Amino acid sequence: MPSDEVFRDIAKKTEESEYYTLIPEGYEKGRTKYIIVTGSVMSGLGKGIFSASLGKLLGDSGFNCTPIKFDGYLNVDAGTLNPYRHGEVFVLDDGTESDMDLGTYERFLDKNITKNNYLTGGKIFTAILNKERSGKYLGRDVQFIPHVTGEIKKFLRDLAMKSKADVLLVEVGGTVGDIENQYFIEAMRQLAYEEGRENTCFVNVTYVIEPEFLGEQKSKPAQMGIKQLMQLGIQPDFVVCRSKTPVTTKVREKISVYSNVPIENVVSAHDRKTVYTVPTMLKEAKMDKIICKRLGLKNGKTPESKEWLEFVENLINPEHEITVGITGKYTGLRDSYASILTALEHARAKFKTKVNIKWIETTEIENGKLSVEEAMKDVDGVIVPGGFGKRGTEGKIACIKYLRENKIPYLGLCFGFQMAIIEFGRNICGLRDANSTEIEPDCKYQVIDILPEQKKIEGLGGNMRLGGRNIDVKPGTFASKLYGERKSVRERFRHRFECNPEYIETFEKKGLVFSGKAPDYPIMQILELPGHPFFVGTQFHPEFTSRPLTPNPLYVGFVEAALKHNKSRK
Ligand code: GLN
Repeated sequence: MPSDEVFRDIAKKTEESEYYTLIPEGYEKGRTKYIIVTGSVMSGLGKGIFSASLGKLLGDSGFNCTPIKFDGYLNVDAGTLNPYRHGEVFVLDDGTESDMDLGTYERFLDKNITKNNYLTGGKIFTAILNKERSGKYLGRDVQFIPHVTGEIKKFLRDLAMKSKADVLLVEVGGTVGDIENQYFIEAMRQLAYEEGRENTCFVNVTYVIEPEFLGEQKSKPAQMGIKQLMQLGIQPDFVVCRSKTPVTTKVREKISVYSNVPIENVVSAHDRKTVYTVPTMLKEAKMDKIICKRLGLKNGKTPESKEWLEFVENLINPEHEITVGITGKYTGLRDSYASILTALEHARAKFKTKVNIKWIETTEIENGKLSVEEAMKDVDGVIVPGGFGKRGTEGKIACIKYLRENKIPYLGLCFGFQMAIIEFGRNICGLRDANSTEIEPDCKYQVIDILPEQKKIEGLGGNMRLGGRNIDVKPGTFASKLYGERKSVRERFRHRFECNPEYIETFEKKGLVFSGKAPDYPIMQILELPGHPFFVGTQFHPEFTSRPLTPNPLYVGFVEAALKHNKSRK
């Protein structure tokens, strides 16, 4: 580990030597500890859930734990990624379009995070190329080492300072061995050297296979994965073993022997009924205690929050059961709708109910393969989620008509809000062929039209109306009741189109109530239909602000209404 003297020197020597470590002004080594989480063997192990659970434990112990996720792709953010391939785009309050793991962090740590908690390959290289173009490298050839790695370390240290973090939890996306994250892992190796062993700690999440034809666990792929990490100069302090069933002592011993990690630091993280039990599982393995000791953090008592345990208990042992239909283009892929499903989880715990999901492929309704009646059979409520483009929209509109007429709970999210307006326009206001200009640019009644601010914008990346906005909630409405009579609430948006202000009066005259509006513009944000048990649409995405112990009120209202509907059917 470099002495403090050298450490300061590194900062000075950036121009003329091989050292290129930009230390932010006032940075204090050792003030922030770094926990770096990598994954080996394969992706999709739930590194995010593990990291967030560890973060929750540290947070519960009173530490300021700040997460940061690195994604190796060259996209600058997740805004242009197809949710079908990469999972949903999670929108932060500051408008950042991020990876769905950041949603997991917000939910587990119960705090809002920002663009500073999300780093992509695209973002790093954009910064570097911009610097190069403006001559900031003073004639040097710009290299992966030291410039790219230097930029990454700077980003982390800046975040450590800005957030005043006790612990910075760094999740390295992808798998060890990928080209995409190799320079990032190298940056972490350097960081550990510069910060010192007592200030950094590495956790490798790996996978222990259990082939059916053998009927026993095998540790070889895990060993190989860890070996690959060690070849990059990183000695893990912990190995977290994902597996189907609890990892046997024999396998843990083997991994321990091959990786120089003491057996008590080789933790079994087998499949669970719900991810919300992972913090308890890590606590039982004393992982928080050992990490704190390792990093010299004075571990306060972690109070086992009664509300949290109750929440988990309600999830595992439900007393009721309802079925919620979700329509959409990406049906079948749970990751594309991750936040909606988790928001339903939070709300269902409140009512001790199980929620079965019925995916409805609306293109099948359009092409006559599925009747609306059949699609709506046995559902207690339906969600039409966010979406883009024409595919399946007529099927969605047909479903909404059925739900409105048959008084079945309906929650429309963003695109679902817009579809409800089109349906109401066509079938109640007599605006035949009403549509959105996103779907039918030349339609006669353009009840959904592009936002004026969006007309000027070209290109597709990061330029929608994005992020948290305040909403004025109209007193005396159903929405106001759901939001506990709060006059102003904050929710997150991601859209280009809106309810065309020219038609607001027409809709209101026919009984549609706009119960939430933007404070400064005539942008309609919540709609409701009096006399219907639950017919609510939101131009925003309420699922992004739902947290385990503070579920979003609209989801709570929806699940409650669906439960009532279910009881009335029996
Ligand atoms: N496509 C619609 C718009 O851009 C809805 C977007 C969404 O559902 N997130 O306004």
